[in-house]
Amino acid sequence: MTDNLLALDRRHVWHPFTQAAAAPPPILVERAQGARLFAADGSEYLDLVSSWWVNPHGHAHPAIARAVAAQAERLEQVIFADFTHEPAIRVAARICDMLPEGLSRVFFSDNGSTAVEVALKMALQYWRNRGEARRTRFIAFESAYHGDTVGAMSAGSGSGFFRAFAPLLFPVDTVPFPETWLGDDAAPAREAAALTALERALEADPGSVAAVIIEPLIQGAGGMRMCRPEFLRALAAMTAERGALLIFDEVMTGFGRTGGAFACIEAGVTPDLICLSKGLTGGFLPLALTVCREGIHAAFLGEGFDRAFSHGHSFTANPLGCAAALASLDLLEQPRTQARIAAIGAAHRRGLEGLAGHPRISRRRLTGTVAALDVEAGEAGYGAPVGQRLKRHFLERGILVRPLGHVWYLLPPYCVTDDELDRAYAVLAEALETV
Ligand SMILES: *Cc1c(COP(=O)(O)O)cnc(C)c1O
Repeated sequence: MTDNLLALDRRHVWHPFTQAAAAPPPILVERAQGARLFAADGSEYLDLVSSWWVNPHGHAHPAIARAVAAQAERLEQVIFADFTHEPAIRVAARICDMLPEGLSRVFFSDNGSTAVEVALKMALQYWRNRGEARRTRFIAFESAYHGDTVGAMSAGSGSGFFRAFAPLLFPVDTVPFPETWLGDDAAPAREAAALTALERALEADPGSVAAVIIEPLIQGAGGMRMCRPEFLRALAAMTAERGALLIFDEVMTGFGRTGGAFACIEAGVTPDLICLSKGLTGGFLPLALTVCREGIHAAFLGEGFDRAFSHGHSFTANPLGCAAALASLDLLEQPRTQARIAAIGAAHRRGLEGLAGHPRISRRRLTGTVAALDVEAGEAGYGAPVGQRLKRHFLERGILVRPLGHVWYLLPPYCVTDDELDRAYAVLAEALETV
């Protein structure tokens, strides 16, 4: 049966971010539990990338499964204009309670890219509704990734993933992201340079910038590049001073990834808009939130439909996704989960320290539950073949990692054990001898 399914996959399925001409056949997964994936051929994989960063509590968590099943029997979906429902109301209220004060209004969508599109469109129309229609420019960061829809790609054009789509993208100013790592002492200088570039972009045509968008503390797909909270505070102050809005894309960093509940809380910054998705439903269902300050929502109120936000998706605030989110938030708040988040950080630190001084490793870095490093192999970037070789090496040893080119990283579900993480670092050390 496995062969038959894989033959059908080869004939009919188009996989994302994959060069099908060169890729080995995909691994057929039958079931999963905790941090483990079980394949049809009997092999097992420890999922140390949380299945593309969406899974905080392990796979098929029974508490979330029960919540989804119960919701499915009561209300599976309902139009969200003119109608509302308890799971969505509870998700919105609970998220606003968790976020810094001032972020109090929630718009639902389906995935990280749409959460970003919503934020960009809200920012633009906010200024139009306020009579400042000149504010149409956006400023983003080099190596930023905000998703694969057209607006999100435009904001993420600094990632280098979207050259094929250049004719579709609207222009966005990009400024340097002041990345830093363990033992780096040049971060303040890099931050000063980034702030100078930002100031220049904001001043280029005063009163024309709608918003600045950033992935706070960690740039994900752009190479797990990390910055200091100090930079985010200076950035927020500068953006506010020039009257532009600040958008935090916390699609990856939300829900404990950076240690605290959200990177904005870790950094002590309240943005004007925040995008959330991965991790929200415990990895069960696609759901996303764009949360804004009340003043932004207020600017959309008025007599005519003209001022309203003309945006929505068929499955806006899907009740199953909301039920999964509520169950996942319950798990996140458990002391046991919080203890694991802290322990994962400590295990990463041990692992990274064990690799100190390794001739093929540089820029070891760590924020919360995410650890990353650069592997020297005479090649860099997302297409660097060393990433493919490392991925193979780990898969052959039953571990799923997915390097971003020459950047190797771990982003495990919080149920992972210290021993499992120690083993991943041991496998890396071994791989560096042969790969
Ligand atoms: C993954 C990601 C997105 C896009 O989310 P999708 O659900 O894949 O559309 C946007 N922003 C960041 C920071 C991400 O990591």
